[in-house]
Amino acid sequence: MLLQMGEKLFIVFNEDGYTYGNCILVDDDIRVVIDSGAGRELAKVQPENVDMLINTHHHYDHVRGNKLFTRAQILLHPVERISIKSLEKVMAIDGWKELMHQDLYNQERMEEGVDPDAVTEQWRVDGEINDGQVIDCGSTKFVVLHTPGHSKGHCAFYFPDEDLAFLGDICLTRVGPWYGEAHTDLNEFIASIDRIIELNPAAVVTSHVNQVFHNPRAALNEYRDRILKREQRILQQLRETPQTIDQLVAKHLIYRQHPSLPVVFWEKSMLRNHLERMVKLGLVKELEEGVFKAI
Ligand SMILES: [Zn+2]
Repeated sequence: MLLQMGEKLFIVFNEDGYTYGNCILVDDDIRVVIDSGAGRELAKVQPENVDMLINTHHHYDHVRGNKLFTRAQILLHPVERISIKSLEKVMAIDGWKELMHQDLYNQERMEEGVDPDAVTEQWRVDGEINDGQVIDCGSTKFVVLHTPGHSKGHCAFYFPDEDLAFLGDICLTRVGPWYGEAHTDLNEFIASIDRIIELNPAAVVTSHVNQVFHNPRAALNEYRDRILKREQRILQQLRETPQTIDQLVAKHLIYRQHPSLPVVFWEKSMLRNHLERMVKLGLVKELEEGVFKAI
């Protein structure tokens, strides 16, 4: 579904579910699209007639339609430009072997409806976007906001005339936030959410909820605080007894359910990132390799 938010600004709501995502269309003198994961709805932006495609970040549900933009200049943040060349990073399973103690379970990926051809192609990238950059489409202008945390080069976008921000995977879903990349700095994710709260846009849209959030301050605050609530649950566990990541994952401290192996992997990866933060803060100590205890 296309939802008009300004004279030339549209949201493309994905109707294909998980592994797809919402996009933005600026139908101006320069036709710009942000992200390409809207599945069947993407046809409505006429990808072949788009001048510029910007990806919020490198994950598959945001770049999966990139190859349809045959004429467009494709732009990403410099960090994402490197990540998009890695199949494991595109699929958000980088570091699988180490945490899962097994090789990649390919069947699992295919079950998620991933087109194997699409993930083995060499993704084309033509240029970069950077924090503070203004994209001028004619009458519509918008600003690039580098918002690291979900991924290191993740970007959000602010449309001043509409007072609207597109937040990508600062997703505001019930299961978020996700920070399962190896060695993600959680302080960066918190700072990125705080930056949006300070920007105080009248409305925000994300990649994975099919609604416009008006006056989103409370929703953003609650979303950010989930990171610290998860951390408190981990700390409570480690006060009771020293534990490994493999023991902690069985406690479901982040995801109540583990319906697939990738979710188990993401919980482990996020646990590791929490532990790294808590070790730095002096809240947790690694007793011996891989065994953590609250101080
Ligand atoms: Zn993502």
